[in-house]
Amino acid sequence: MVGHVTVVGAGIVGLSTAWQLQRRGIEVTVLDRSRVAAGSSWGNAGWITPGLAIPLAEPAVLRTGLRSLTDPRAPLHIPVTADPGLWSFLARFAARCRMPVWRRTMAALVPLNRLALAAYDELEEEGALPVRTRRGPIMAAFREPADADGLLRELDQVREAGFPVEVTDVDAEELRAAAPIVSAQVRRGLRIEGQRYVAPGDFVAGLAESVRRRGGEVREGAEVSGIRHVGGGLAVEVVGDVPVRTEAVVLATGGWLPRLARPLGVRTPLRPGRGYSFSVSGPPGGLTVPVYFARERVVCTPLGDRVRVGGTMEFRGVDDPLDPARIEAIAASARPLVQGLDLGSRQDEWVGSRPITVDGLPLVGATKVPGVWVHGGHGMWGMCQGPATARLLAEQLATGLVPEELRPLDPTR
Ligand SMILES: Cc1cc2nc3c(=O)[nH]c(=O)nc-3n(C[C@H](O)[C@H](O)[C@H](O)COP(=O)(O)OP(=O)(O)OC[C@H]3O[C@@H](n4cnc5c(N)ncnc54)[C@H](O)[C@@H]3O)c2cc1C
Repeated sequence: MVGHVTVVGAGIVGLSTAWQLQRRGIEVTVLDRSRVAAGSSWGNAGWITPGLAIPLAEPAVLRTGLRSLTDPRAPLHIPVTADPGLWSFLARFAARCRMPVWRRTMAALVPLNRLALAAYDELEEEGALPVRTRRGPIMAAFREPADADGLLRELDQVREAGFPVEVTDVDAEELRAAAPIVSAQVRRGLRIEGQRYVAPGDFVAGLAESVRRRGGEVREGAEVSGIRHVGGGLAVEVVGDVPVRTEAVVLATGGWLPRLARPLGVRTPLRPGRGYSFSVSGPPGGLTVPVYFARERVVCTPLGDRVRVGGTMEFRGVDDPLDPARIEAIAASARPLVQGLDLGSRQDEWVGSRPITVDGLPLVGATKVPGVWVHGGHGMWGMCQGPATARLLAEQLATGLVPEELRPLDPTR
């Protein structure tokens, strides 16, 4: 069995991999070019919602996508100057927006969704994490009552794919009793049971501490530029520092994954689907359930006495600066839908990159280079599914056997 693994990337995916490797008696070093939770694992919505973790590519997304090309305030944003590689990515993505493809992709995601909450239980209980997930229904909210039918149909399809989701229709009064931030314009809600949420940045910081407490090294400011074979092992090149000698490497660099993984035979296109968030002070008494304005694709998550508001899918470079117009667009979409939130007094404005693969499946497993593995590409659902795939990948590294659930996620597919 391998004795020491270097994990590159200290987001939810890298750190839960490191933690699961330690659990199997493997020593770990985690390297991050910046700091713990520097990427999309910080300002995301923190929804641990296996009932909603479904493929992005479906017929309705294609319709929204076409409309948004002419509307700068739309939740999906593609700059007209986009590079030719992006257009080819989007064309391949669009070709997959069909229900038979959706069903095939969903069939591969269901086993991950089944494991998602158990993987969190394990982290929280054995890792003694100071920040824990909270249980709660997700309240979906609709101005037009008929719009809820689309989500109900989607949830039916999730059930047909073999994942149970319990959902109840609620009227405006019940919805506002559960989620007082919902404005009088909203007329129908759906209560989706059995889901969880978390303050993602704090959770990931707690996970890093847990890895350190168990003897692992988590090194910040360590940018990896390449990996070489030396003697019987590997040397991980770190910019401005000596290489780290190790027996195996797991690349978990989120939206940056192609930079290091493509030369290793990981050819499935991956693009950063950038999302934005900010926080505002919460309503008196606080918000106790996450709220999903499904039509507008705006989410609100309780974050202590504040509320995180997030949304948007923007296809630009992973290191491009935050575009204030996208924050404004989220605030403008949210304004008629919420009450008691001062959208003008925003803090923590943030952009992060969902690592979106063209075929909607994560990339988890061995590369073409012996000893080097990848773990990423969870797109919209890395918080939810990352700990589950971490458990499976650690099992593969420790035993040499490929878990059934990981077969469709082969990164050299
Ligand atoms: C607005 C928004 C809302 C979201 N909401 C949810 C949600 O509610 N639920 C959910 O499940 N998912 C959600 N997601 C998706 C989720 O955030 C991601 O899927 C997940 O965080 C990906 O984690 P990761 O560890 O793969 O990547 P990251 O968190 O991006 O971590 C990658 C790390 O790699 C480091 N790195 C990069 N290159 C190098 C290098 N060369 N050397 C060393 N280190 C390097 C980076 O500094 C970074 O820390 C959301 C995303 C966005 C943008």
